[in-house]
Parts: sequence; C-alpha cells; structure tokens
Amino acid sequence: MQRIDHPLLSPSLGSHKSLSSFHFGPPASASKSGLKIYIQASLHAEELPGMLAAYHLRPLLEAAEAAGQFAGEVVLVPVSNPIGLAQRLDHKPMGRFELDTSENFNRHYPDFAKEVLPAIQGQLGADAAANVRVVRAAMADHLASWKPSTELQSMRKTLLTLAHDADIVLDLHCDCEGVLHFYCEESCWPQLAPIAHFMGSRTILLAKDSGGGPIDECLSGTWWRLAEALKKLGLDHPLPQGCCTTTIELRGELDVTHAYAAQDAKAIFSYLEHLGVLATGNTPAVPAPLCQPTPLAGSETLRAIGAGVVVYAAEPGQTLNKGDLVAEVINPVEGVAERVVAGVAGVFYARIRDRYVTAGCEIGKIAGPTAFRTGPLLGD
Ligand SMILES: [Zn+2]
Repeated sequence: MQRIDHPLLSPSLGSHKSLSSFHFGPPASASKSGLKIYIQASLHAEELPGMLAAYHLRPLLEAAEAAGQFAGEVVLVPVSNPIGLAQRLDHKPMGRFELDTSENFNRHYPDFAKEVLPAIQGQLGADAAANVRVVRAAMADHLASWKPSTELQSMRKTLLTLAHDADIVLDLHCDCEGVLHFYCEESCWPQLAPIAHFMGSRTILLAKDSGGGPIDECLSGTWWRLAEALKKLGLDHPLPQGCCTTTIELRGELDVTHAYAAQDAKAIFSYLEHLGVLATGNTPAVPAPLCQPTPLAGSETLRAIGAGVVVYAAEPGQTLNKGDLVAEVINPVEGVAERVVAGVAGVFYARIRDRYVTAGCEIGKIAGPTAFRTGPLLGD
C-alpha cells in the first residue's frame, strides 16, 4: 500500500489542507484483471458511515496485498472532503455546502465529454479498448491543464485526477435517516448490480443524467455522452461505458456503528473478489436481490404544506401504498395536524433528521415504480 498526501490550494495565509489517498495492488494496466477501482467516502462531510467503512476496508485490503492477492488496482480515499469536514457553525457540522460559495460539494463537476470530444475525434478507431485509452488520456490532459483558482476547485481536481481512469467508482454517502440505497446511471447498472446485492440494497434508483453535475455522473456521463456525440457526428467507433459509477447511501447519518461498517467493508471486498480484482481463491456468490431498480424520476419527495413538528407514522424501509399516512405536521398554535400521505406506492427509503419543518420542507422520499418527474432529479 502506498499513501499519497495531496496538498490543496491554500485559500488563506497560513491555511493548508490536504487529501490522502491509499493505493493498493499493481497499476491496472500491469495487472491480471486490468481493472482499477476507486472508492471514496464522505464527500458530503457529515455523512460518516462511509468513512468508518473505509477504516474497516483498509486492513482487509492490506491483508490481501500481503498475501499477494491483488490482480487489479484499488484506490481508497477515506476522507474525500477535508474542507467540509472542518466547517462548523453554531456547534453543528456543515459538510454539504462550502460556506464560502454555498456550492454543494457534490455538484458542479465538469462535463468531460464536451471538453475532450474535439481532442479524441481523430484518434479513435475500431478497437474499443484502444478507444477507452484514448478517452482516458484526453481526460488526463484536460485535468492537467485545469488551473484551479480556489481550494474547492483544487479538491475537485484532485478527486477527479485520482478517479478519472477507474473502471468502477464507488462514492460512499448516506441519507439523513434511511435504508441502504443506490443511485446509479442506467448505463452502469449491469456492472454494479452485484455490489448492490452484496450490500443488501433496499432501494436502487436509476437515472440518465440527474442534473447538477455530481462526481459519479461526471465520470459515468463522460462515456455515454461521448458515445452519443460520436453517433451524432456519424462516427461509428465503438466506445463502451469505460467507467461505471454509483453513489451508495449507507443508511442514515447516525448509522455509524462498527457492525454496519464491517458488514459494508466485507460487501465491498466480496465485490472486488467477484470482479477478479482480488484473487483470493474465493468467488463469492452474489446474494439474491432485496429489491428491483426503480426510476429516480419515480421517486416522490414528500413535502409539508405548513410549518410544524413532524411526527412520523412510517419507518424507513417500510413499503407504503398510495394514500398511506407517512407523517403528521403538528401546528400547536392552531391546534391542527396536517397529514402527509404517500402519493405513490413504494419503499419509504429516506426521511429527514430534524423534527421541525418550515413551510414546503421535505419530509421524506418514496421509491415509486413509475417515472413522473422531469428536470433536475437530485435534491439540493
Ligand atoms: Zn451525500
């Protein structure tokens, strides 16, 4: 294992942050499987279950490396957002938005397809694997030419430099309160289905371009966007989905336990065995799915009409029918209780942590089976 500390751009006199990556196995190009897997945790910095899972995963990877079992490359970034992790306000963690710009730490990643299309056009041919190498080299060139002017941009550049040439990217997040669930682009789902089942995912939300530029879709979107752009230009060079990414929501913010983290680390380890990145002599059977994928555009975000105290009737993971009571919003001034009911049938996969809402606030989310939303599909 090699540890590399990457200094971020210093935003202020005397202030210096760095981001640490841990590298296991031979470079993908020199390995038996030819695969590179990139895993990062806690890009939304108050979402800690992934950080603990990374802590549990690291010794498993170190032991496999000592046993000579690496047949691919793994890069692990247990603390992917040192900027957000240090932000606090009124004694509360503030790890989702950078306080300076109010930008979400997991949005505004670049559109690689647009950036690299002019550079790759003349270099592609009939060999799909060679085309993948051309695109990755162009992405690396684009990253090298990017001169960040802020600490936040330098963090985004560092993460993309570590991840851009990975075959699989696992971005470990969590919800406020919730069951384990996956966000994934449709073009990546076949390759990622095994890990969703190893982890026991209870909801799987598929989309194509959710909007907002999160890091996972920045990387996966590069490939299908380029493939579509080439087709539009009348070029039929084969270009596979060179990077499959997923955002894994490891339950809720308070689900930070050694038992969950060890279970999640073991599931990631099993997936690496399944992919052949770890040649342990053990090929674990993929467990039976606990759910079927549903469209992200079918996920209903329930909202309170008025302000008040939230009292939940439904627990995370509960399967609801349309019209079932999810929560009451109590207004003790008027002496009334607003009923918030399910507008779609499906798994109530996440809900908020606070128990007071202002008018229009989110209450929770239900994974419905039928797409009905359009426009940006992710929350703020
Ligand atoms: Zn998150």
